Formats: sequence, structure tokens, C-alpha cells
Amino acid sequence: MNYGERFMPSQHAVLSASSSNRWIHCTPSARLEERVPEQASIYAAEGTVAHAKAEQKLTNWKEGHPRRKVKCEDGEMDEATTAYRDYVVEVFNEEKKKCEGTELYVEVQLDLTPWIPGGFGTADAIVVSDDTLHVIDLKYGKGVPVDAPHNSQLMLYGAGALNQFEMYFDFDQIKLHIFQPRLDHISTYDMYVDDLTTWLAMVVKPSADMAWKGEGKQKPGEWCRFCKVKGNCKARAEQIQQMNERYKQLDAMLLTDDEVAQILPMLPDVKAWTKDIEEFALNQALNGTHYDGYKVVEGVSRRKIVDQEMVMSMLDKEGYSKEAYMKAPELKTITALEKLVGKKHFSELTEGCIEKPQGKPVLVPVTDRRPEWQSGIDDFKDEKEED
Ligand code: SF4
Repeated sequence: MNYGERFMPSQHAVLSASSSNRWIHCTPSARLEERVPEQASIYAAEGTVAHAKAEQKLTNWKEGHPRRKVKCEDGEMDEATTAYRDYVVEVFNEEKKKCEGTELYVEVQLDLTPWIPGGFGTADAIVVSDDTLHVIDLKYGKGVPVDAPHNSQLMLYGAGALNQFEMYFDFDQIKLHIFQPRLDHISTYDMYVDDLTTWLAMVVKPSADMAWKGEGKQKPGEWCRFCKVKGNCKARAEQIQQMNERYKQLDAMLLTDDEVAQILPMLPDVKAWTKDIEEFALNQALNGTHYDGYKVVEGVSRRKIVDQEMVMSMLDKEGYSKEAYMKAPELKTITALEKLVGKKHFSELTEGCIEKPQGKPVLVPVTDRRPEWQSGIDDFKDEKEED
């Protein structure tokens, strides 16, 4: 019997499960983010392809064709998606030993509207047995390990799955799994159904209602990392200002060791904020905003040898020993080779073997001597929250 794939969402969710940690903590963030257009990201595109391959492999297994070939972009994707399939199959087989009626569902659209206006999500894999519901999420990214305990995205998938399957099964427990193959990372979290329903009623529903209306107070925290307005968020700027205000009150002219110790834990937030505001200002400047006293120029770029073999063979012909020009397993740096051979002669020898890529745009004071940036900008913001 097919209990899955009943719910089909028709539009993009304003309050998505993947951004739930953000709008639960900072309820106005979802509506603020709507003002920023979606940006393409190579990592998001790669994750989408990997999920499609993983789905295909799992479906092949389910349909009795485990050896059917699924063509992947590269060996790493092939290995990672096979490892994911094997993990899901292992979870399924373990449950099957205990309960003959265990079922596996792949890529299940889940209705989250009982708690979130317009809410939906897609669970990569769901395993249901008599008393346990497993929700398994593939994370293809390798930026940071993602953990299952108290992970609101997974808990919402668990809620959607519970809603969809509870009329056929009598679950006590929900087991949430994150499988992140490129980091060799597996994280699981067991929840009682009662705890999940309490969280939905006490935390999710009230936050979602406020977030939907764009109400509540902005609250900076670790959830700002993937917020689209992190570079021009007023609450974050105020938070930094409040940190500074505290030190204005001090009588002494130098900080004590204790005061320095109190500042140290604040530095990651300060650093993240300065990076985000720089990135925001650069993007704005590239799109025509003028900041008094600033201009965009081409940043520094490093020369690189594009044909190492050719340069090695030329240096051999010139009579240089390998020890002189190699720093195993590669050639020495261009600067070191210029020193060895002489700048002019090295440039003649390596004509066509060295290139200097265009530097990325940077925002600098107008006093900088570099000429103003002329051409368009490539997408230099690639990091994105995973679905
Ligand atoms: S950057 Fe942080 S505080 Fe500002 S709106 Fe986004 S989540 Fe809220």
C-alpha cells in the first residue's frame, strides 16, 4: 500500500523547513528575506543533482534493480550517493527484522500546514514500521557537519511524516537521521512523539504565525549565517554597537585581563558581521550604489603555471637539476623560479605556460591607486543553506 507522496505543494514556501531555525528564533527574518532575490549557487545546484542521483539509486533498489547503473557527475558523487543508499537500506533491513510490514518511501512531499502557513517539505527517505518512524536526510554539502539533535528542519519533516502516516501506524518514537557522506558524518536523534507534538504546539506554531505576518523582534544569533539580509541587518549592527557601548563606561584607559577574556568570545560574531557587511556593500557598489570615499577595484590575483610539464622540460633543457626547480610534488613558486633562472629569461622560456586570472572585485578607499573596476561581476557568493 502506498501511504506516501499524497501531498503536492504548489508554490515556494515563505517559511521553509530548511530556514526554520532562523524564523523560529528571529520571526521577522522570513519576510525581510523576501526582499532579496534568490542567487544562483554552484553548491546548491550540485546538491540538487546529488539528491536526484540518490533518489534514483534508492528507487532502483526498491524496485529490485540494485545493480542498475546511475550515471553520476563524478566519482565522489557516485560514492556518496551509493553510501547514502546503503545506509537507508540498512535502516530499512534492521526494522524489517522486527516488523514484517516495514515500508520505505523515497522523496516524500510533506504537508506542514497544520503548524506553518503554506508550509511543506520533502523528506529524502522515510522508513515506517509498527512503532517507529525514521526520517533520513541526505546532506551533500561538506562545509560543516550538520547534527540531528534538536535540528528543526528534521523535526518538521518528522512532524509532516507523522501527520501523513499516523492513521496507519501507532508510533511511539521518531528517529531522525542526517547522513553527510562527504564528511563521513552520521548523526541521529530519537524523539518521543509526545515531545515532538509539544514542540510543535509551544514553539513552531506561535513562531510561524508571527513569522508569516513579519512580526516580532529581530534576534541575532548563529542562525544569521545563511540569512539573506545578514549584511544590512540593523539588529546585528545594534548588537555590535552595544558591545562597544559597554567599554565606553570604563574609567581605566587600558583593559584588564578579565575584560580581554570577556571580549574574546565576541570576536567570531564581530568578524562574521564585518565580512557580511563588506560583502553586502561590495555587491551594492557593483550594482550601482555609490559609497562616499570608496570605489571598486580589481583585487590581487596570483599567477599560476598552467603547463607544469612544459616548464619542467624547458628547465631540464636549460640544464637545471630537479632539486633546483622542484618542491615535491610540484614546481617551486614562480617567484622562486624567477630567482633561479632570472626574471627576463624565465618569462621568455615560459611564454604561454603562465596565466594570471582576473582578480575578484574589492571595495577600497578612493585613495587606492588601482583603476576603478569596469567589467561585470561573476557570482562570488556560493555558500548556501542546504535543503
Ligand atoms: S540577520 Fe539575523 S537578526 Fe537579522 S534578520 Fe536575519 S536572522 Fe534576524
